[in-house]
Amino acid sequence: MQKLQINATTHIYPIYIQAGIRHSLSDYIAKDYDKILVITDENVATLYLADIRCSLHHEQVYTITLPPGEHVKQLQTFYDIHTKALQFGLTRQSLIIALGGGVIGDLAGFVAATYMRGIDYIQMPTTILAHDSSVGGKVAINHEYGKNLIGQFYSPQAVIYDMETLQTLPLKEVRSGYAELLKEALIAEPTLYNSILSIKINNIVVEQLKMHVRNGIMIKANLVEKDEKEANERKYLNFGHTLGHALETTLGYGTLAHGEAVAIGILFAMFVSEKKLSAQLPTKDMYRWLLDNDYPIHLQELSSTSLVKQMKLDKKVVSNHVQMVLLQAIGEPILQKMDEAELEGLLEQFFKKINNV
Ligand code: ADP
Ligand code: ZN
Repeated sequence: MQKLQINATTHIYPIYIQAGIRHSLSDYIAKDYDKILVITDENVATLYLADIRCSLHHEQVYTITLPPGEHVKQLQTFYDIHTKALQFGLTRQSLIIALGGGVIGDLAGFVAATYMRGIDYIQMPTTILAHDSSVGGKVAINHEYGKNLIGQFYSPQAVIYDMETLQTLPLKEVRSGYAELLKEALIAEPTLYNSILSIKINNIVVEQLKMHVRNGIMIKANLVEKDEKEANERKYLNFGHTLGHALETTLGYGTLAHGEAVAIGILFAMFVSEKKLSAQLPTKDMYRWLLDNDYPIHLQELSSTSLVKQMKLDKKVVSNHVQMVLLQAIGEPILQKMDEAELEGLLEQFFKKINNV
């Protein structure tokens, strides 16, 4: 069993990482709650909901099972969950468990943050990608203008990560999760980066996967502790996300998995780092690795102007400038304000380059 701890401003919470931990959940729920509401999606419910219900030794457990996909992270679903929670009679002494990937974690967490002004919740991530989103207390839903624009910082009571559940992930989701791991590696840890580049995603050894995810969580935990509200260092975790989020919104959620969009965003951030900072980066190797692992990096024609417009709706915009995370070297991120016209030019060059290599 691996146990990490996060010192949030409101409280300290544990991250438990163990294969099979879903079978002994009650041992890891510290308080006595009057009711428990498990929020999950259909795919995860089919695979794991019975295990969870069985291991929650509690008389009043309710469940809400949503369709899978990013489109549930919206106001209507958020409201419907509140309605059901009220009908179930959840109180301030109740607990919400978010069982699923990042979508469920963000949405259920935001419900917990707002239900009766905030009740306890536990994150139970079931994807590789959610190793990132389940730690650090960012919870949100999307607005049609952009991703995660309505939300809050609201830390969970615990993160309970059963890595056994990762064995059933479809390859697209493994790919998506590894992009987020690459992000963490590139901003903080060259050895993790090298280790990831040495694997093939469709042929990962379980021990390697565990090691990568554990490392990713430690990098995330470290940055979140230093800067919970994203005033400084936590911003580095947005590496690859400026273009990534704009692509997701422009192409429509679900066309690219979040991590697939982030992978393209990472390549772009490396390209810009080379151009603007004359950084020496292994961009070619990254590009090859992404291709070898079937990341969809060749996109249809996209308008750079509308992508930049979309980037300007990002939460990270400062005095009307898009802020990008760039790399001086692997493990040395910096924040860079970007001029709109310059960004548009760089995007055009970038798309030309990746479509012609
Ligand atoms: P993320 O944002 O973490 O990628 P999502 O919540 O969008 O996660 O989930 C991605 C997809 O993977 C969804 O279709 C979800 O139902 C499915 N999924 C989540 N966890 C698992 C799992 N452990 N095994 C199989 N499918 C899963
Ligand atoms: Zn992300």
